[in-house]
Amino acid sequence: MDIYPGDYIDVTSKLQVGCVRKVPHKGCSNSACLRIENSIEGFKFYCFKCREYRFDSVLNSPAERARRTAAFKAYREARAKNSHELPPDFSQTLPEAGLAWLGKAGWTSCIIRHYDIGYSEDLCRVILPVYYRGVYSGYIARSVEEWLEPKYLESTDQGVMWESRPHTDESSCVVCEDILSAGRCGEIVKAYALLGTSLDTSQLNTLRKYERIYLWLDPDKGGRQGVIDAVNRLRIFSEVIIITSDKDPKYLTNSEIQEKFYG
Ligand SMILES: [Zn+2]
Repeated sequence: MDIYPGDYIDVTSKLQVGCVRKVPHKGCSNSACLRIENSIEGFKFYCFKCREYRFDSVLNSPAERARRTAAFKAYREARAKNSHELPPDFSQTLPEAGLAWLGKAGWTSCIIRHYDIGYSEDLCRVILPVYYRGVYSGYIARSVEEWLEPKYLESTDQGVMWESRPHTDESSCVVCEDILSAGRCGEIVKAYALLGTSLDTSQLNTLRKYERIYLWLDPDKGGRQGVIDAVNRLRIFSEVIIITSDKDPKYLTNSEIQEKFYG
């Protein structure tokens, strides 16, 4: 008796990866003889009654595609309502691909834990919570699957920056482009990640309280002149030091980063 994955969307759409459910095999038996497993690679169906097996790869599965689409729609609706709460299925268990992505940028398990980095199975993305002025202000979601577009989803309040943990010396700070770079620099000085390509008045006001501001943008990227101009305006209040490097800060070693600040 054939198994049609489309008949079980009501089950598979709610089945977390790693979980198993037994349901009747439609057209075969009314007893719960059909075992459905949501494995990493896709859905596995096996009927104990007729011994039929069916594997439905995540990538080819209309059911899984429907699930991802629904999750994405929910995200967009939440965004429209201006709610930036963490996804309901936010979990601190990161898949291997997520750990690899963070590890490549030099994030240790200690930094990952400190900043509450997690994962949403529904969004299929690593979740980077954003705290600004000590207040939870939304999150950035980053896909770690090659096939999944868009790479980034942003669900944050207007005009926020990602902020690193507090430092004993709050006289200087560094401004980076992305969270992974800022997180690495944040081990050495107070760090901010620009989440957009411009700085508004409130962000400039946050920065002007620092005596010294390092501006460290990724190399070889255009369109950042606005940020450089804005930070230059802070020279009235603060000492501004522009740092350049061949690679993004996140791809440097700790001592290479340290050297940029303290020579
Ligand atoms: Zn069957």
